[in-house]
Amino acid sequence: MRSRTVVALLAASALALTACGADDGAEPATDDTADMATTDPMATDPLESEPMESPVEGSGDMSFEAGTTMAELSDAGTITVGTKFDQPGFGLQGLSGGPEGFDVEVAKIIAGAMGISEDNIEWVETPSQVREEVIEQGRVDMVVATYTINELRAERISFAGPYYVAGQQIMVAADNDTITGPESLSENPDTTVCSVTGSTPSEQIREYLADESQLVLFDVYDKCADALRTGQVQAVTTDNVILLGFVSESDGAFKLVGEQFTEEPYGIGIELGDTAFCEFINETLQENEDAYNEAWASTAGAVEGASPAELPEPAPCA
Ligand code: GLU
Repeated sequence: MRSRTVVALLAASALALTACGADDGAEPATDDTADMATTDPMATDPLESEPMESPVEGSGDMSFEAGTTMAELSDAGTITVGTKFDQPGFGLQGLSGGPEGFDVEVAKIIAGAMGISEDNIEWVETPSQVREEVIEQGRVDMVVATYTINELRAERISFAGPYYVAGQQIMVAADNDTITGPESLSENPDTTVCSVTGSTPSEQIREYLADESQLVLFDVYDKCADALRTGQVQAVTTDNVILLGFVSESDGAFKLVGEQFTEEPYGIGIELGDTAFCEFINETLQENEDAYNEAWASTAGAVEGASPAELPEPAPCA
């Protein structure tokens, strides 16, 4: 019941955001944010995500300094985590249970280190555009949602990590030989490319377009995949590893083209300035590299074409 309320609140805030303009300083070309994300009941067959076998290393006796986020959360015994619900391999909500994927497993490692079991995690769907807002408003304790660390976002929230480095790429229909990479988009000005409002790829693709009208924006990526399937758009762009998840679920209908053309270091979004929580998250991931590797191997890393993940050195906590 409570999480439905949160999703409804998110839908309302996404509408408010639409009215105020897009994140990252640019107006969306076509904004379908009002048509808010819902869990697709047909979206079965999430990538098999095995429960983690290796125990998560806690911080010794689990006693945290009073007043810290870790003390608060471990005393409460629950944590609220924002993640994606439509991204195979990272955060995908099936018909029952919680969402599944690498981001979900990373969140479970962090929660586990505060003594919080996965049954006591409340998952909140956080489409790209609302991530800063839900953290600022305290509606979630952290966001683990294919969330690229960048300076603009870091003015509003703090990032722990990075815990993975992805890169932007292009996905097209398997029989499309015209679009071979981002440069093909301006060479074929009749084609359209889909991305998500408030995402870094939706901004970075603009320099490759002949005209802004080539860009179609939705609130979540599975709507882009649907639009590609029905031929409403000819390409989808976001991070390579997200696209690989859609390719793997497409029964051979989609493929990736070209090389990755950006770097997308994924961070864990937390309240601005919560340095102690940021350091705790970074230490937890470093101490649990086995669980991290296992999480990757059983989720996004299990997809055909995925490379092994290597836990990056964390950035200093600001
Ligand atoms: N990593 C990119 C971003 O944070 C794209 C993926 C997403 O939209 O979640 O904007």
